[in-house]
Amino acid sequence: MALKDIKGIGPRALALLSKMGILNVEDLVTHYPFRYEVLTRGNLQETEDQAHIIIDGRIESSPILMRFKAGLNKMNFRLVTASGVVGVSIFNRAFLKSQLTVGTGITVLGKYDKKKNVITASEIKMETLSNKAKIEPIYHLTNGLSQKQMATFINMALLMHGNEIPDYIPSSFAKSYNFSNKKTALNILHNPPSEEKLKQATIRLKYEELFAFMFKINYLKQQNKKKNSGIARTIPKDKIEKFIQSLPFVLTEDQKMAVDEILKDLESDGRMNRLLQGDVGSGKTILSFIAMYANALCGYQSALMAPTEILATQHYHNMQSFFEKIDLNIVLLTGSTPKKEKQEIYKELKEGKIDIVIGTHALIQEDVEYANLGLVITDEQHRFGVNQRANLENKGKKPDTLYMSATPIPRTYALTIYGDMDVSTIKTRPEGREKIQTILKKNTEIKEVLSMMLEELKKGHQIYVIAPLIEESENSDLTTVCQLKDQMKLAFGSLFQIDIIHGKMRSEAKELIMQEFLQKKIQILISTTVIEVGVDVPNATMMVIFDANRFGLSTLHQLRGRVGRSNLKSTCILISDSDTKRLSIMESCEDGFVISEEDFKLRGHGDLFGTKQSGDMTFKIANLKQDYKILLQAKKDSEVYLKSKETDQEILKKELIASVQSA
Ligand code: ADP
Ligand code: MG
Repeated sequence: MALKDIKGIGPRALALLSKMGILNVEDLVTHYPFRYEVLTRGNLQETEDQAHIIIDGRIESSPILMRFKAGLNKMNFRLVTASGVVGVSIFNRAFLKSQLTVGTGITVLGKYDKKKNVITASEIKMETLSNKAKIEPIYHLTNGLSQKQMATFINMALLMHGNEIPDYIPSSFAKSYNFSNKKTALNILHNPPSEEKLKQATIRLKYEELFAFMFKINYLKQQNKKKNSGIARTIPKDKIEKFIQSLPFVLTEDQKMAVDEILKDLESDGRMNRLLQGDVGSGKTILSFIAMYANALCGYQSALMAPTEILATQHYHNMQSFFEKIDLNIVLLTGSTPKKEKQEIYKELKEGKIDIVIGTHALIQEDVEYANLGLVITDEQHRFGVNQRANLENKGKKPDTLYMSATPIPRTYALTIYGDMDVSTIKTRPEGREKIQTILKKNTEIKEVLSMMLEELKKGHQIYVIAPLIEESENSDLTTVCQLKDQMKLAFGSLFQIDIIHGKMRSEAKELIMQEFLQKKIQILISTTVIEVGVDVPNATMMVIFDANRFGLSTLHQLRGRVGRSNLKSTCILISDSDTKRLSIMESCEDGFVISEEDFKLRGHGDLFGTKQSGDMTFKIANLKQDYKILLQAKKDSEVYLKSKETDQEILKKELIASVQSA
């Protein structure tokens, strides 16, 4: 089913389609309209000059055909409609002439020239629409492709290969829901005959998409749960207990419970696949250290993966200091580790000389081999896609996996992305933490903000200043951060050290700045969202976020979590002239779960996972927010299906499973 074999798709169209990520026939026929235009029948009097009109009537005069050079032609005729007589011109439809006889009822779609009383038709239908409205699909396109071409390609593909498009709904379910077959549903989506039919077909395709997704999730979960699929260990609990006793703080009840759950998973011969979720600052990191320590005590290697170098480096230093007196070989491996050092680390990992490796994506991107990888932990898990998850897991034989996330996610997402995992939740924060005071300010109140900053600086505390909406890839970020730097220099430069950090800086430079901030050599750190995740500088007690309206609530919550990391009173100032109602949720609420639900209601999941992470959460037609009920049904059905044994279903199962494995 190659695209190039579709009639009408030449090399040029092929290139344009592939630019849009449409690489095969299935991609093409599931390139769903992103909206529909409903054309209702118009009336000559009420239609404005040059507006689109759809009107039916009877042909009053025989079409006059004119032929031009290069095979072009035009036909003119008069049409009697309910609202008067109108002239119709249509280009290049000479082939219709024999059908357009006087007295025939037709429907004309086109643009109305009021002065000339002529419709330039784009389409003529050889029947009157009676009372039906015409529903036109509107597609996302790329430069060089027209709506019409896209529709033509899709319909041609459906015509040629419509029956070969895989249908993931098992026949028993299709029957009980009275679903049409895949081809019919696709046809309706691209050529809706009525709103009612469109609605039914849409539900059917949404169900299919969610069913297939939930099936994969359930399948993965089933595979993980299999006995003997993991490593069984006997953990010397006394050593773990001794280490916990040596900590400068007492673990909270939730932390203790999570440790128990994790250690139990490590001991069992099933494979651990656990999500450790807890709000920012709830103390997840130390639990990952304990898990890696336990793993090392049993003779296995661990890998801890963080989304940024800053965070990986911070974890590394932290772990070093917590385990100062314990004999563990811990290394840091990131994209900026010098090549020679990297080679050495690879070698030692392969030889089993390293107990624990902490790093970034470099860990998975490069071909790292482990002697006996037993545990893989990813921090701020929502930053990694399911595919990346799978990647690292494959490096070891059957390593246990722990995912840590500070993004509390709404139930729907828990069901989907995390549906294959067990979950430990830390609800309470360590004691002695003050509530972070959050204040909304307008740009006109900047003087007040500056004086609040001064008060804080005078106490010897440090401040984060966040620059607005800055994606590391955008060209505008530097100036924006620099502008803030100039402003801050003007206000505080004579008394305090100010510096910047952003995603375009080299890792060593970032690392240096973070170290200086931690050592209080810098008082005001101006940053992009690079510092969003995980960074821990307890003496930083204030955060000022400019153009706060540009961020999602979950992002703001993550950002805010950088302060309030000690028993010092902390403040977060959100500056924005608009969107104050949404932002005021931040003033009253400190519960990440509630905030994420609000964010979800307001913005959908895009912000929760960010653009980079959303890859495997984007559905082609389903929308988790709107289709929650369908999701629940699909989930239930997929569980039933996974357990059933009927033959036609086995074939389907194989296909779905194969698609899991190739993902
Ligand atoms: P997060 O869950 O956001 O990753 P961290 O693990 O970075 O949070 O913890 C935040 C801070 O709290 C760290 O400095 C950590 O050492 C400290 N911490 C962790 N557990 C406790 C506890 N039970 N009591 C006091 N402080 C703790
Ligand atoms: Mg963390």
